[in-house]
Amino acid sequence: MDRRRAFLEIYSKALNEGRNWLLEPEAKEVCRMYGLPVTRLGVATNEDELLKLSKEIGYPVVLKILSPNVLHKSDVGGVLIGLKNDEEVLNGYRQIINNVRKNKPDAIISGVVVQEMVPPSTEVIIGVTKDPQFGHAIMFGLGGIFVELFKDVSFRIIPITRKDAEEMITEIKGYTLLKGYRGRPPADINSIINALLTVSQIIEENHEISEMDLNPILVYENGIKVVDARIVVGGVEKRQI
Ligand code: ADP
Ligand code: MG
Repeated sequence: MDRRRAFLEIYSKALNEGRNWLLEPEAKEVCRMYGLPVTRLGVATNEDELLKLSKEIGYPVVLKILSPNVLHKSDVGGVLIGLKNDEEVLNGYRQIINNVRKNKPDAIISGVVVQEMVPPSTEVIIGVTKDPQFGHAIMFGLGGIFVELFKDVSFRIIPITRKDAEEMITEIKGYTLLKGYRGRPPADINSIINALLTVSQIIEENHEISEMDLNPILVYENGIKVVDARIVVGGVEKRQI
């Protein structure tokens, strides 16, 4: 199936379920179709599936809540990382479900996402927003406090060229960190450039997308990995959350 049809299928499913945004596994599937490296994952709806999936993916794993009512998973205690064996995974599964029941009692719990735990590294963010006047804009920044506190980000209107992507990376202050700093190895800038171009292409080909948030993307010396993905789509009047 071509990517456009595959996207429309995921999109319609979300709308049919009354969501104007794609769940993490759906958003990562869109990324994967376009060649962005994403974490291996599966969805468990009971403890047998959980243990089977964890074994297939390989320890350590990460568990995340899967719910049409939870957009920011860690805010409700819905993310646990570094679970090393069957026992930790079983306890983690129960804990996540309890946390969400407690912090967001009305949330429907569709299951728990099990995914590979990737090694820590520099975190970057690629985002897309839609402006009524200028259309889609793409944003780049370093993760965590760099974005939230220092607003150290760069923007371009979509579509972008390779040169735009290069400039987006070099013009942020945090570029110093990406180049390699005090023994930190340099980040794979070329992979970030390609990721920016890919996100621009995803938006060009799928205009139903109004917002996109790849946060974080982990950057290594060789390659990157999208660890969390969210896509907001048009077509529904009001946000569900
Ligand atoms: P949220 O919906 O709260 O943004 P995330 O999926 O981004 O949830 O998870 C929260 C944090 O947990 C991430 O910012 C990242 O630091 C860490 N994390 C999430 N998934 C993984 C993973 N597969 N491997 C390693 N760390 C992860
Ligand atoms: Mg996130």
